[in-house]
Amino acid sequence: MHPFTLERPSDLAAAFAFRAQAGRNDASTEYIAGGTDMVQLLQEYVRRPDRIVSLAGLLDSSIESGPQGLRIGAAATMADVAANRTVTEQFPLISEALLNSASPQVRNQATMGGNILQRTRCPYFRDIGYSACNKRQPGSGCAAMGGETRWHALLGTSETCIAAHPSDLAVALVALDASVNVRSATGQRTVPLVEFHRLPGDTPHIETVLEPGEIIAAILVPANSMRRHSHYLKVRDRASFEFAVVSAAVGLDLDGGRIREARIALGGVGTKPWRVPKVEAALRGASLEPLALRQAASLAAEDAQPRGHNEFKVELMQRAIVRAIEIAGART
Ligand SMILES: Cc1cc2nc3c(=O)[nH]c(=O)nc-3n(C[C@H](O)[C@H](O)[C@H](O)COP(=O)(O)OP(=O)(O)OC[C@H]3O[C@@H](n4cnc5c(N)ncnc54)[C@H](O)[C@@H]3O)c2cc1C
Ligand code: SF4
Repeated sequence: MHPFTLERPSDLAAAFAFRAQAGRNDASTEYIAGGTDMVQLLQEYVRRPDRIVSLAGLLDSSIESGPQGLRIGAAATMADVAANRTVTEQFPLISEALLNSASPQVRNQATMGGNILQRTRCPYFRDIGYSACNKRQPGSGCAAMGGETRWHALLGTSETCIAAHPSDLAVALVALDASVNVRSATGQRTVPLVEFHRLPGDTPHIETVLEPGEIIAAILVPANSMRRHSHYLKVRDRASFEFAVVSAAVGLDLDGGRIREARIALGGVGTKPWRVPKVEAALRGASLEPLALRQAASLAAEDAQPRGHNEFKVELMQRAIVRAIEIAGART
């Protein structure tokens, strides 16, 4: 591990001040929350900050709901949110996505803010034995191209990076039209989560729209009419403690046997949490018949660009959409 200084500021202003000293050189001073992703990356020399600023005790961890929807403080743990009664009753998609993530031990420690900002599980990014990784070292190339691509994305990729986005929670939140409240030394702003993560383009090392030093303070989820008929379907190599090969977050507003409105986002296939508006539009007014669902789901594959080992995901993601809708639609 590269040696670093751990700062434990007593308030957010002090945390911002530490971070401001680094200027735009993000990598020299980094925040840490639960540490479940950060510590792994430090141990593997993937991240080498000189200073780490702890956010412990500085951010809100409350979970509040009202007529407008849900507000979750960024410091709330995955476990607390998954078990919260308002969340399980009003926003079950969030709870399901969280309970399908990681392990109880990790969920007890990991925060909601850190979850959204966790780094990709691309094995070439996480192993410095591979020198070519544009995300870790801009301009160095991409070891995944021409390598093993089973875990990689087919939507939103670029010639410089095909890494899949890892967060299950973010996929569910994107389906629910959630936003993040972002704070800095100079103020705050709200960013729709669907716009929060960036496509890799030519700069895969810049993963979000956060400005240097900005933090996520809270997650905001608008009230919606889809809580009864929702489902988070995760396909993975083993039943727990595993990231998604493909996942589908589905929320339905039903009128009898017909879909009034659908919200669908995919995980494991996109370089960011992937909303599929074409599929949603095709489902508007559709029945829950398998053929209608299959036709709509096929639109998700229109822009897919598989590479070698991840070709199977083109079919799998369509089946995941159909199955998740069937399960959501059958819920009473
Ligand atoms: C074995 C294992 C299995 C896992 N399986 C899954 C899985 O199946 N699905 C899944 O979605 N995730 C999975 N995870 C990832 C896990 O959910 C994340 O590691 C965790 O959510 C990160 O939260 P944290 O608080 O520990 O973040 P940290 O590790 O402390 O930080 C992560 C990043 O976020 C930044 N950060 C943290 N909080 C803030 C904030 N409020 N504002 C600005 N920046 C911030 C840090 O600077 C850092 O860059 C797994 C992790 C492990 C270790
Ligand atoms: S896919 Fe992205 S993260 Fe993985 S090796 Fe290539 S550049 Fe690095």
